[in-house]
Amino acid sequence: MRRALVIGGSLGGLIVAHLLRSTGCDVIVFERNEEELASRGVGLGTHPQLIAILKRAGIDFDASMGITPPRAVCLDASGRIIIDRPTARTLSGWSRLYRALLDALPAQTYRLGKKLVRVAQDANGVTAIFADGTSERGDLLVGADGIRSTVRAQFLPEIKPVYAGYVAWRAVLDETDVPPDLWREMVELYAFCLPEGEQLISYAVPGRDNDTAIGRRAYNIVWYRPVNPDTLVDICTDADGRHHFGGIPPPLIRADVIARVKADAKALIAPQIAEIFARTAPFFQPIYDLVSPRLVFGHAVLAGDAAFVARPHAGAGTTKAALDAACLADSIRDAGDDLDAGLKRYERMQQPFGSAMVALNREEGAYLSAQLKPKGQRTAAELNRDIGAVLRAHIDRSEQVGEIVAAHGLAALAGA
Ligand SMILES: Cc1cc2nc3c(=O)[nH]c(=O)nc-3n(C[C@H](O)[C@H](O)[C@H](O)COP(=O)(O)OP(=O)(O)OC[C@H]3O[C@@H](n4cnc5c(N)ncnc54)[C@H](O)[C@@H]3O)c2cc1C
Repeated sequence: MRRALVIGGSLGGLIVAHLLRSTGCDVIVFERNEEELASRGVGLGTHPQLIAILKRAGIDFDASMGITPPRAVCLDASGRIIIDRPTARTLSGWSRLYRALLDALPAQTYRLGKKLVRVAQDANGVTAIFADGTSERGDLLVGADGIRSTVRAQFLPEIKPVYAGYVAWRAVLDETDVPPDLWREMVELYAFCLPEGEQLISYAVPGRDNDTAIGRRAYNIVWYRPVNPDTLVDICTDADGRHHFGGIPPPLIRADVIARVKADAKALIAPQIAEIFARTAPFFQPIYDLVSPRLVFGHAVLAGDAAFVARPHAGAGTTKAALDAACLADSIRDAGDDLDAGLKRYERMQQPFGSAMVALNREEGAYLSAQLKPKGQRTAAELNRDIGAVLRAHIDRSEQVGEIVAAHGLAALAGA
C-alpha cells in the first residue's frame, strides 16, 4: 500500500488526506501546532464545487453547516439601502468544516506538534524531517502547509508572497451580543459598504459552536482597507516594539491600532455595521498574491495555499484547495502504478487553474491596490467605481469560479 505524508493539518491538508485515503493510500497528516487548530469564528464562503468535493470526502454539507442570506444589498454611509438584489451564496464557518473533516479521520492519522523542517528524497521514496528530530518515510509528500510553506521554500526559494497593498480587517460577534433590532435588520442581508477606495462585506455565519440555530449564530465582517507598506510595518508591530512579519497575532495588535479602526468605522461605514464592529475585537490579515510555477518536485507536491494564494474576494481559497485535493487523488488513482505520471498530470491540470484563480481575484482587488498610487496616477476606473457593477461582479463570482473550473477541465472532479 502506498504511504502519503501530508504536511499541514488545516482545511487543505484534511481534504487531501480524505481523498487520498479513498484511493487506498495510507495517509498521515503532520501539523506543527501542538493543539487542534482553533478558529477565530470567522466566516467562509462556499461554492458548489467545495460542497460536492466534501461529499466525496464523506462530509454531507447539510442545512446545519451554512447560512444562505436571500438578499445582497449595498448600504451607503448613512445606512440607507442603495442597491438590493437577490443572492444565493451559502456562508459557513472555517471551524465548522475543520471539525467535520477532522472528526471523520481516524485519530491516529492526525499528528500534532510535528513541524516539518526539510524534505529528503531518494530512489525509494520521500523522508519528512521534523523539528523534534524525528523523521517519517513515505512514497509521496504533500505540502499543504499554507502561504509560508516550508515545502515550497525548499523547492522554490525564489517564490514569495507579494503584498497586494491592502489588509482585511475581520470581526465576528455572537448573535446574542448584537442588539436584537439590529440583528433582525441585518440577518437576512449579504451587506456591502463601499467607502471610497475600500470595501466591506458582512453577513451572518454559524456561531461559536458551529451552530446555525436561531439565537446561536454570529455576525461576520470583512473590511478591505488599503495600507501602504510602511504603515503595514507599524500596525504589525506590537506594544513591545516587536515586528511580526507577514501578519501580527490578533491578541498582540496594539490598542491604538484597534481604537483607530473603530473610529474610522464610525466615520466611514453604515451605522448598523459600525455599531456591530464597535462591539467586536477585530483583527487584520495582510492580503497577498502567490503563484507557484511548478507544483511537483520528484515525489513532493504542493497543494492549497502552499501552491497558490488568491486574494479572498471570490471566497474560494478552500474550494481551490479542495479541487487540488480531488485532482491529486484522481490523477494518482488513474495512473495506477505509475506515480510519476499521476503527479505530472496533477501539475499539468492544477498549475494553470491556480494561476487563473489568482488572476480572477487580482482583477477584483485591483481597485483596492490602486489606492496606494498618487491620485494623479490613477485611471478613471481606479478613482471611481460603479457600485452596481461591483455588486454584480461579486454576485457573479460564484459563476465565474465555475467557469474557470470548467475551462480547465476540472468540472468532473466536483461531480459536474
Ligand atoms: C481574509 C481571508 C478571507 C478568506 N475567506 C475565505 C472564504 O470565504 N472562503 C474560502 O474558501 N477561503 C477563504 N480564505 C482562504 C482560505 O482560508 C484558504 O485558502 C484555505 O483554507 C486553504 O488553506 P490551506 O489548508 O491550504 O492552508 P492553511 O489554512 O494556511 O493551513 C496550513 C497549515 O499548515 C501548517 N503548517 C505550516 N507550516 C508547517 C510545517 N512546517 N510543518 C507542519 N505544519 C505546518 C499550519 O499550522 C496550518 O495549519 C480566506 C483567506 C483570507 C486571508
